[in-house]
Order: sequence, then C-alpha cells, then structure tokens
Amino acid sequence: MKKHNFSAGPCILPQEVMQKASEAVVELDGIGLSLIEISHRSKEFVAIMEKARSLALELLGLEGKGYQALFLQGGASTQFLMAAYNLLEKKAGYVNTGTWSLKAIKEARLFGEIMEVASSQDQNFNYIPKGYTVPNDLDYLHLTSNNTIFGTQIKEFPKTNVPLVCDMSSDIFSRQLDFSKFDLIYAGAQKNMGPAGTTLVVVKEDILGKVSRKIPSMLDYSVHAGKDSMFNTPPVFAVYVSMLTMQWLKDMGGIPAIEEINEKKANLIYSEIELNPVFSGFAAKEDRSVMNATFNITDETLKDIFDEKCKEAGISGINGHRSVGGYRASMYNALSLESVGVLVDIMSELEKKG
Ligand code: PMP
Repeated sequence: MKKHNFSAGPCILPQEVMQKASEAVVELDGIGLSLIEISHRSKEFVAIMEKARSLALELLGLEGKGYQALFLQGGASTQFLMAAYNLLEKKAGYVNTGTWSLKAIKEARLFGEIMEVASSQDQNFNYIPKGYTVPNDLDYLHLTSNNTIFGTQIKEFPKTNVPLVCDMSSDIFSRQLDFSKFDLIYAGAQKNMGPAGTTLVVVKEDILGKVSRKIPSMLDYSVHAGKDSMFNTPPVFAVYVSMLTMQWLKDMGGIPAIEEINEKKANLIYSEIELNPVFSGFAAKEDRSVMNATFNITDETLKDIFDEKCKEAGISGINGHRSVGGYRASMYNALSLESVGVLVDIMSELEKKG
C-alpha cells in the first residue's frame, strides 16, 4: 500500500513523475540509453537542462525579466555562503525566523557585517516578526519564506529598496507571489521540486559582479550563468526529475492551480487543530505555514492511540522536528487533499475518545 507521505523533505513527489523518472533510468525517451549513462553535453541532456531552466522562470513569471535560473549542487546550505560570497561587500541584513535563518547568518558572517534586522527567537520562532525597519545601507536583506521546522511562513514581504534574497526551499512553487520583487531566490529541490541533489537558484543578472573579492568559479553565480548552468557536470537525475515535476505543475495550471489545493489542505488541518481540544497548534495563527503544520497533542494519554491509528492508516512522516517536538504534517504540492483528510479523520475520532 502506498503510504500517505507527510515527510518534511525529501518528501512526496507526483506518482506519475516517479513513474516516468524510473523509466528514464532504464531508457530515456527511446534513445537506447539510460538518462544516467549519457553525457551531460549530449543534445538530449542539454535539452532537458534548457527545459528545466525555462520552466522554472515561466512558473515564477520571470521570463524575459533579466533573471537566470541555475541548477546547482551543495543544497540550500551552500547557498547560505554563496549568496554572501557573491553579494556581500560590507553589511547585510537578516531576518532570523529559525534554524535555517541562523545557519544562513552563521555562514554570511564569514564575509562581512551581519545585522539581525528582526528575530522571533524570543518565542522559539513560533511567529514571523513584523513592522521592523530595513536600513537603506544594506547590500541585501535575507529572508526565509517558509520555516520548515517551526511551521511559520511569511505572508507579507517587507517593502524595501535594498535587494531581496530569499531562501524558498520549503515553499517554492506553492503560492503566487510577485517573484520579480526578489533579486535572488534559492531552493533545495527536495520539497516541491524533485529529489535531493540539486538546488534551484534564480538570480537577477544585474545584481552580480558588484563585490570586490575574487570568487572561486564553482561559487560564482556569473560563471554558472555564463555556462548555462553547465559549468561542470550537473546532477543529471535530479535536474531531470525536477524538470518533470515542473512540467507536471505547469500541466495542471501552474502555481495558481496548486495554490488553491494547498489552501484547501491547510484549511482542513488547521480548522481541525483549532476546533479539537486534543490538539494545539504551535505557530501563531496569522503566520501558519501552508506547507508545514506543526502541532502538539494536549492529552498525552492519547498519544499512543493517535500514533497507532496513524500507523494503521498508512500515515508516514508526521513526527515533529526535535527542536519543536509534537507533530508536523508537511503538505507539499504532491500531497493530495485526500491524504490530509485521512489524517484529519483520525484527529477528529480521537476527540470522541478523549
Ligand atoms: N532552508 C530551508 C528552509 C530548509 O527547509 C532546508 C532543509 N530542510 C535548508 C535550507 C537546507 O537545505 P539543504 O539540506 O538542501 O542544504
């Protein structure tokens, strides 16, 4: 039985994408060779890379707007340092909304002065700071759009004249935003885009080339952009599966269509958390993530029954992160509304038992 996969990442991908990806590992599109045994310089793979790059820009509404889409390696964690390496001359601002922001800050400090513009650390990151002032003299402001561990999400982005850098690892392609407000977006593939192994970087060309330091080639966005994201051997399988997933999203109507489904899934689980006294939500209501719902069980005596019922129903991956505890239901793009319904039914049955 295929399980209901609520894993925080790597996570569920569309079934049809996995089917097609597995076929391509044996033979790519009838060419008599496997996807993973052909040269990355072959016309077949060059076409896949080009498709992936153009789909990323198309889905984000950034085609023809001076952006480059790159598929790099080293995870979002490499972007923590690469963003600073390429953009930080003197001082950058960071909004600290949790573990991943803190890691980004730690890396950036190696390259210049970092100002923590706002933080929600005082309440174990259960909310998104608001109403802060962004100084005008920053090289950039760094944000984390969705906090995978704490289950909070930025709903309104700060208005500022300084370049915006955003880690969108756990909510890329899930909701409509004016992506042209951002100068650099990065996201590890392993949530809404594909398997682990590649990171999407979308960079506005005119912010590059402004720092005085020398940048090693592999860490230089301009080098990767100048080589159409083929400076060295790209992670061919991860790029291919990401391309298929983006095509799947485009075919179903793109971000507006998936956003509607994502809203339904989130509304379903959050209304249960709100109404059911057996559960309590972790994140502040107005900042709750549409991707990762974090919650606790208020009556510990019901925990074993809840866990057992979830197991019986084939629900997988809902344990909370060790720094928050409780539960976390991650509802990425490929997770169906039906799967959320199965979980919510178990939650509501538990109320009757309590
Ligand atoms: N940023 C966010 C928001 C994440 O959720 C994660 C991973 N879960 C990372 C960064 C780190 O990504 P990676 O493991 O690809 O380096």
